[in-house]
Amino acid sequence: MDSRDSLRHQGLRKRLIDGIRIKGVRDQRVLDAIAKVPRHLFMDSSFIQFAYKDQAFPIGAGQTISQPYTVAFQSQLLDVQPNEKILEVGTGSGYQAAVLVEMGAQVYTIERQRELFLKVQVLLPELGYNPKFFFGDGYKGLPTYGPFDKIIITAGAPMIPQDLLMQLRIGGVLVAPIGPTEKQIMYKVTRVSEDEFEKEKHGTFVFVPMLKGTTN
Ligand code: SAH
Repeated sequence: MDSRDSLRHQGLRKRLIDGIRIKGVRDQRVLDAIAKVPRHLFMDSSFIQFAYKDQAFPIGAGQTISQPYTVAFQSQLLDVQPNEKILEVGTGSGYQAAVLVEMGAQVYTIERQRELFLKVQVLLPELGYNPKFFFGDGYKGLPTYGPFDKIIITAGAPMIPQDLLMQLRIGGVLVAPIGPTEKQIMYKVTRVSEDEFEKEKHGTFVFVPMLKGTTN
């Protein structure tokens, strides 16, 4: 356990998990991972006292750390299995990446904001989380590292990025909020064959937008 984590924080996480379970996330592996990741250490000091409220908060560069329920919901839809290779688009605070690592996945995470990209590369290893970090445009994915078992997008995309679908293995799953900036629908897309994809819709969410290109 990190010295900046405490029994009090663990107690707060336990309550957070009870809330997430009541909202409908029942996958015990997801709940166990959220119980372990010290969310307060992923947040700016000015918001630290709110770390275990089930809300999104600013993390700088105009971005947010996703709401814990949303992280839990997307992780449950991904149905993460140990050792699976997972691509995350939108590293942000690194919290979702840490939850996936905690679940035993091999995580490749990509961020377009240089400030955030630089920050997480220090924080996550300090906390014992070692996903592979990439600076780049998530619309393009990581063609040389694919195919992936799973892909998760943590920003709202106007449409399902085709390049990412092509980086899924057959049988692989992409989970992504798709729609205009005001609100998106959570899609689970399964690649059933080389060129066939099965789509399911899972409710409405609001994410910061997925943007093209990178900052300098
Ligand atoms: N997974 C994050 C959520 C961060 S919010 C967490 O757990 O904290 C969404 C993030 O997606 C932001 O950091 C934003 O900069 C990033 N983003 C937006 N468009 C992107 C793109 N095209 N490629 C990579 N990252 C992108």
